[in-house]
Amino acid sequence: MILRLNTSVAATEAAQLAEKHKAFHIHYNGSQHLITSSSMKEVPAELASKVDENWVFNNDMQLASREFQQKTREINIGGLTIGGNTKNTILIGGPCSVESLEQIQESAQLIKSLGLTTLRGGCYKPRTSPYSFQGLGLEGLKLLVKMREEHGLSVITEVRDATHVDEVIEHSDIIQIGAKAMYDQGILRACSKINKPVLLKRGFGSTLQEFVQAAEFILSGGNDQVILCERGIRTFETNTRFTLDLCGVAYLQEYTNLPIILDPSHALGYRYGVEKLAKACVAMGIDGLLIEAHPDPSVAKSDAAQQLTHEQFIALKSAIEPVAASVGYKIV
Ligand code: PEP
Ligand code: MN
Repeated sequence: MILRLNTSVAATEAAQLAEKHKAFHIHYNGSQHLITSSSMKEVPAELASKVDENWVFNNDMQLASREFQQKTREINIGGLTIGGNTKNTILIGGPCSVESLEQIQESAQLIKSLGLTTLRGGCYKPRTSPYSFQGLGLEGLKLLVKMREEHGLSVITEVRDATHVDEVIEHSDIIQIGAKAMYDQGILRACSKINKPVLLKRGFGSTLQEFVQAAEFILSGGNDQVILCERGIRTFETNTRFTLDLCGVAYLQEYTNLPIILDPSHALGYRYGVEKLAKACVAMGIDGLLIEAHPDPSVAKSDAAQQLTHEQFIALKSAIEPVAASVGYKIV
């Protein structure tokens, strides 16, 4: 249950009430709220006079739910807003991994030259083999910071585990929680205490409810800037790397108030269909796309098969612009 407290309740009293009722206490939209488990169905008598409004839920999708807030949350990324009524579809591009200064410099120039604002690049790679390239770590983060400073771009990079979450929070403009880290409580809790956007990827074996509940860990800790990212789930099919769950996207758009970014690169796993999939995604009226592109994919140290060449990335942008316009959105 979510309880919106009236203005007569001081913050210290609200914190005490939260402790007593095993609730989270957050400030949202200018009011204090208590959030309990969805098993609570009635406002406790003691709180009745202190509560202005309350919401009862069937399950623990609460703060993220459209029942709590009908309007999609607005999230600001380096001066650009997505969500709300903006009808912006942010195109985020860059390599799977930050590999060298020269490589990320070329990627940054590509993003800048297209009038885009946000560069991706992984520094802590959650690889499925310990023998594969694991990312440049802090050195990579510093390269991203350099790109922000030199090109005025926002940067997004992922956290692999809780040991370096503070480093990523310090250096990145958007914190990406990867599919394999979606359940990592240390990461989720650390990201719940910050004032930066978090891009939460769906675990490839996670239900939609588990996905949204992972977002609730961040929201209930007080960070209201969560973006969901659908990046493909595992099905019986093996010819494609994963299966992009557009039904899931429709569900999330209908039932949650969180902006949604789609990642067709990781879903398909091969560059040949990324542009077509991107068009399909954009046709759904989405808040953003995450696309992997590399100056020379043939030598990429991770996800070589799916990264677009820069020419292909430029072509993708041109291809999705009219699709976005046809559904009233704009690629930004
Ligand atoms: C990535 O964005 O490079 C990545 C590893 O994605 P995911 O967590 O979706 O596999
Ligand atoms: Mn990748």
